[in-house]
Amino acid sequence: MSKLNADYENLVKRTQAINRRLRIELFKISEKLPDIRRKPFFGQFVNGMATESLGPFPEFILPTHPCSRTLQGYCSPCFFSKVPMSSLSREDIYNSLVVQTQYIIEHFDEIVIGFQSREDSLKNKFDVTFCYACNGSLFSDAETTQSTRKQAFQMLADEIEKRNLRPLTYIETCVTDYLDFLSSNEFDIIFPLLKKLNAVICFGFESANDVTRNLIYLKNLSLIDFEKAVEINTKLGVQSAAFLYSGFHSMTQNEVINDVTNSVAYLTSKRVMPIIMYPNLQEYTLPHLLYQAGRYNLIDPRTALKIFENTDAITKRIAQDNRDFWLMGDLFGGPPAPPTNFFNNKHKITCSCCTENIRNALQQIRKSHDSSLLNFCKKSISSCECQLKYRDMLIEEDLTYGRKDIIERISENIEFAEQYCADYLNYMHKKEKAQEC
Ligand code: SF4
Ligand SMILES: [Zn+2]
Repeated sequence: MSKLNADYENLVKRTQAINRRLRIELFKISEKLPDIRRKPFFGQFVNGMATESLGPFPEFILPTHPCSRTLQGYCSPCFFSKVPMSSLSREDIYNSLVVQTQYIIEHFDEIVIGFQSREDSLKNKFDVTFCYACNGSLFSDAETTQSTRKQAFQMLADEIEKRNLRPLTYIETCVTDYLDFLSSNEFDIIFPLLKKLNAVICFGFESANDVTRNLIYLKNLSLIDFEKAVEINTKLGVQSAAFLYSGFHSMTQNEVINDVTNSVAYLTSKRVMPIIMYPNLQEYTLPHLLYQAGRYNLIDPRTALKIFENTDAITKRIAQDNRDFWLMGDLFGGPPAPPTNFFNNKHKITCSCCTENIRNALQQIRKSHDSSLLNFCKKSISSCECQLKYRDMLIEEDLTYGRKDIIERISENIEFAEQYCADYLNYMHKKEKAQEC
């Protein structure tokens, strides 16, 4: 192994160890939460809502067993370890996928039909759009079984057929689990059901850049595996989509803009639909620890707008009128929404008036996919003095922090996090206690 590879591996392992340490603390708190898996459940946990979704339609996150990657310390910003631990038997937890799906079916009018809020042209093409997911990966045998997956998909497909609806179903999975599914004997049974649901397979991807994806986000995903899954889907006539994150630590805001833009261009070249995920600053995560210590900042609202502007410009080239060509995750993060988001972040540069304009525009655009709203918004914030402050901040950041080698920056942040972790946890424990009083 070369020195570079050894250093890289070492950084991955140390980041995993920090993530695990933070998550273990979170599990301890989570044990105090009520066990929601005793009851049917529909996409809300710890106060999250099904409407905190990838677009103007509901997202049902059905917790079963925790995502195995969470426990392994991957995916630094991920907060899915917040899902309460369960005292149910292993079998009952697996079966809760079916129980929860049954709940969706029994409340279909209210929570599937009732939560449709599309305002774009697709509203006439699809009667219902929804997102169907587990904590992490629907095709993971650690979270669901072949038998529960089959039952759950069958139940959904039957309901859609019975109601004679035209569906669009976004299904969330990890690439490697999906590859396993494609080569398993389960494929022949489930694939026709996915077709009936008009499924789009949404992969956790985060960035096309190896360092960003596997060292900053800690995704543990090779580009080879990703491209293999996309290629098979294309042959099968299944649309692929991929999540892109925009809240990376150790990067300047210009680097984040470029990273997301390059990733959108890469996905678009493969006809994969990008799903833009704005930062989701959840407590007990590495980004939150660094944020508390002043070593990480959320992207500015103007940066968020620029990311969308670039995404829209690139994806327009392949726009078709029979499907979404980009999606945008909930702007405030969540579910559940964290206390700090990039609109209320006390370290943002954009003034409150321009922030409000950007927030309103992005919220509208998410529903209508009408990017002409972007020009109105840009015009409304172009003459404010915070524009100059923002521009100066980008220049300053690039000239100072951005000058340093990216690996060195990551390495410094990881070393800092190792030393600061105990203090951070003390601070969080005190905060929890104060909230209990
Ligand atoms: S695979 Fe998804 S749910 Fe699992 S740790 Fe990574 S981001 Fe979180
Ligand atoms: Zn302003």
